[in-house]
Amino acid sequence: MAEVVVVGGGVAGLAAAARLSKLRHRVTLIERNPTIGGALRGIERDGFSWDSGAAMVALPAILRDLFRKSGRPLETYVDLRLINPARRHVFPDGSAVDLPTGSRGDQITALDAGLGQGTGLQWAAYVDQQAEQWHLLRNLVLDDPQGSSNLASRDVARLLHIRTSLARQLSRSLPDERLRRIASSGFELAGSSPARVPAYLAVESYVERSFGLWQAPGGMAALISALALRMAERAVDVRCTETVTAILTSAGAVAGVELSEGETITADVVVCAIDPRVVFGQLLPRSVARNGRRAFRAAVAVTPPNITHVGLSGVVPPLPAETVLHGDPLLVIRQQLEPSIDATGETAAGLPARSAWTILHRGGDDVDVLEALATRGIDVRSRLVARVDRRPGDIATETATPSYGFEWNGRRVAARRAGLANPLPGLHLIGASMYPVSAIHYAAWSAAHVAQLLGKA
Ligand SMILES: Cc1cc2nc3c(=O)[nH]c(=O)nc-3n(C[C@H](O)[C@H](O)[C@H](O)COP(=O)(O)OP(=O)(O)OC[C@H]3O[C@@H](n4cnc5c(N)ncnc54)[C@H](O)[C@@H]3O)c2cc1C
Repeated sequence: MAEVVVVGGGVAGLAAAARLSKLRHRVTLIERNPTIGGALRGIERDGFSWDSGAAMVALPAILRDLFRKSGRPLETYVDLRLINPARRHVFPDGSAVDLPTGSRGDQITALDAGLGQGTGLQWAAYVDQQAEQWHLLRNLVLDDPQGSSNLASRDVARLLHIRTSLARQLSRSLPDERLRRIASSGFELAGSSPARVPAYLAVESYVERSFGLWQAPGGMAALISALALRMAERAVDVRCTETVTAILTSAGAVAGVELSEGETITADVVVCAIDPRVVFGQLLPRSVARNGRRAFRAAVAVTPPNITHVGLSGVVPPLPAETVLHGDPLLVIRQQLEPSIDATGETAAGLPARSAWTILHRGGDDVDVLEALATRGIDVRSRLVARVDRRPGDIATETATPSYGFEWNGRRVAARRAGLANPLPGLHLIGASMYPVSAIHYAAWSAAHVAQLLGKA
């Protein structure tokens, strides 16, 4: 049995703690905030609740595997639901499409109806191209416990055509400008220019078409509540409001951690699910961290978008889970899944509905987001009863990690970073910052790798 310390109580750290404790290792989880959850912990105000970070997950199989392998099935705790259509795209020329997931044929029909005959087949051919890339990415990177370091290999880079940018691929494959916007808006919202994103990340379109987009009623914080229960069931020692300030080493291997109050915890294994720049820049001894420091010096954390959470009362325009208003600024409205509200906006009891929307944009602090929505035809100003504004700086300090990941500032920088997941015997770096895309499923997948590497006690 190994003594394990997990640093960081976001979804990645919790997933690692759940899996390792099930494998009979003794696990202590350290979280610097008063509550666990990291970017998924949720926000509440005036009786409304919103997702603070992720609102949808694209690969629920990763979460199902996590719960099955660490105890009881996910469905025992969280009623994850396939959302269809999950996303509406509205364009400045007035055209719009509700893009379904899970079916190639349904996507073709919806696009032809919304954006004009022929756009459906154009999009289908583009998404079809990604199937091979997805299988390569799975085999070479995602299914291999040492896989993220494979991204640093020249052969893998060649197979994944890592030199081709998404922008180049889009201009080759999608003559319709609106389709190019559909393919790139997620990256733009996440702060990356398609000219710098490698083309293989277009697999996200394939992943969404094949596996759908899923939401939890009441928000993704439900996933964190389920993981909190799992911590208790597996006797993980969860210590909140404690910060790891140093990783201790001995004879070239990990020996434990030091906390801000000076306490030390000895450990054979330390799993860091936090900002890797902090691991290499502050927690590890200088002599051990040299390579990591160099690799991360060039890494720029993504500046999160501006986020406004609004609580609305009464009937509001019915929206799907996500509405993308293309144009300047790009505006994205996320609607939390409220099981008690029907399609007319009434609750089951007939009371005026309450809607919790989250609006994300990159237009800067000066944008009046509700006015911007009104100019795009969605005027909910008279319905507003609660509001929380979060600026990019607030979001970054809430978790002290780049929950939105790092900018794609060159393929070499990203590949070198990925190769640093196990810089020292006993030390593992996982989570949003170590994967090509910052997302719940990849964060949870990285935790599965640590469990595979460690095995049973
Ligand atoms: C606005 C926004 C929208 C998003 N939308 C989506 C989406 O729709 N779908 C999707 O799949 N993903 C989405 N993401 C990404 C997703 O939320 C993240 O990839 C994921 O939640 C990251 O989990 P993590 O555990 O790696 O990191 P985090 O959630 O950042 O957790 C890290 C934890 O470590 C703690 N910590 C930091 N330093 C220390 C220390 N020294 N000692 C102890 N504890 C420490 C922090 O307090 C934090 O709790 C979104 C992210 C954001 C910000």
